Amino acid sequence: MKGNESNSVSEQKIVRTGTEWKEVLTATQYHVLREKGTERPFTGKYWRHKEDGTYACAACGQELFRSDAKYDSKSGWPSFWDAIDKDKVELRNDNGYGMRRIEVLCRRCGGHLGHLFDDGPAPTGQRYCINSESLNFRKNNQGSD
Ligand code: FE
Repeated sequence: MKGNESNSVSEQKIVRTGTEWKEVLTATQYHVLREKGTERPFTGKYWRHKEDGTYACAACGQELFRSDAKYDSKSGWPSFWDAIDKDKVELRNDNGYGMRRIEVLCRRCGGHLGHLFDDGPAPTGQRYCINSESLNFRKNNQGSD
């Protein structure tokens, strides 16, 4: 049987059917993560969130962003100038809605996170514009798995 990618990514990909995702995600999370929805700006739980810690994928739990790289972009969405590791995210061209954008996905589960723009601050100049719905925050020193 084919279907397993034999590459150097050590972490296993998570593949679930739409029905299976619906069992583990809220309706809003499902809409954003699996149907590439976008939450309304200034409404999510993390756009103003400032605690020290780590933001993980709300679908599969993979850690994606650190609060160290979070900044106030005034966009109304949580914004980061870098990911924890480039291997954790997948970037794809997104030409939907008459725009040329770069979509950001969780590499482990394929969940839609948001988009990447090049108007971020130093040192990267990048802005990962991410939906709160796609993230779960964990405080530092809380001891995760
Ligand atoms: Fe994920």
